Amino acid sequence: MAAHFALLIAPVPADDVRDDYMSTFAPVDPSAPALSVGELSTQRGDGIFETIGVVDGHPQEVGAHLERLAHSAALCDLPAPHAGQWRQAVARVAAECGPGESAVKLILSRGVEHGPAPTAWATASAAPDNSGPRTGGVRVVTLDRGIDSGASERAPWLLLGAKTLSYATNMAALREAHRRGADDAIFVTSDGIVLEGPTSSVVLRIGDRFVTPATGSGILHGTTQMSLFEHLRGAGHDVAYETVPVSALVRADAAWLVSSVRLAAPIAAVDGAAFAVDGELTASINRYLLSPRD
Ligand code: PLP
Repeated sequence: MAAHFALLIAPVPADDVRDDYMSTFAPVDPSAPALSVGELSTQRGDGIFETIGVVDGHPQEVGAHLERLAHSAALCDLPAPHAGQWRQAVARVAAECGPGESAVKLILSRGVEHGPAPTAWATASAAPDNSGPRTGGVRVVTLDRGIDSGASERAPWLLLGAKTLSYATNMAALREAHRRGADDAIFVTSDGIVLEGPTSSVVLRIGDRFVTPATGSGILHGTTQMSLFEHLRGAGHDVAYETVPVSALVRADAAWLVSSVRLAAPIAAVDGAAFAVDGELTASINRYLLSPRD
C-alpha cells in the first residue's frame, strides 16, 4: 500500500549520546521525489529494511525489529544503527498511523556512491485487509531456493540471514506461486530442508509441539515467530527450532506462515494437497498477535 507519511532520517553514529533525535528527522512528501539518482539502494538493492506492524497506533515488537536491523547492518558492513534514534523515528512515524492496522517501514541504505553517509528513511502506510488469509488460510507451493543447507555457512556473502532490500527473487517466487495456482510459497533447500516463505516464517504444529526451522540455515529470524513462541511457551506448550525436512512439513498437524503485518496465515494446502486449518487455534494466535506487544 502507498505510504501516507515519510520521514528522512540523518543517521547518527551508534555511540551518539543525546535525549532527543527529532532534529535528525525531516518529514517529506511521500508522493514526491526524495532520493538522489545515485542512491545505491535503488541501483543495487544495497541496503536493509524492517517492516513493523502497527495496531491502533502501537508499533509491535520494536526492540526485536531494531535488533534485527542491527544484525542485518553488521552482516552487510553498514554502520551500526543507533537504537535510540531509530526507536524515536519509529515512534514519530507510528504517531501518524490512525486506528486499525498499519505498517511502518524502516530503510537503511548504503547511500550515494562515495557519498558521506548512509541514507535512511521511514514510512507509514495502511495495512491491507488480511482477514481472508488469516481465516481462510493460504495455499502454498514449495519452491527450491537453489541452495543447499550448507550454503549460508559456506557463502556468507549471499547475506542469507540479512533482511536486505534485494527482494526481487522473493517477489519472483510469489509470482511463480501464483502461476501455480497458489497464494504463497515456502522456500526449501536443494537437499529438501524447509526454510521460510518469501515474506514470512514457517511454524508447524506436530502433536502438541510447535516447531520452526532452525535459524543459521540461511533464513531470517522472524520477530512474529519469536513473539509467538514466547507466548506459546508461556501457555505451557513445547516450542523448538529444528531442521525440518519437507516430509515433516507435509505430515504436520497444522502449519502457519507468520509475519509482522499479515500475522498468522494458516496453511490450507501444500503443493496442491489440502491441509487441515485449525481455525480456533489460528484465531487465538491472531488475537495474541494483535494485542499490544513490546
Ligand atoms: N522471512 C522473510 C524472508 C521475510 O521477508 C519476513 C518478513 O517480511 C519474515 C521471514 C518474517 O519476519 P517478521 O515476523 O519479523 O515480519
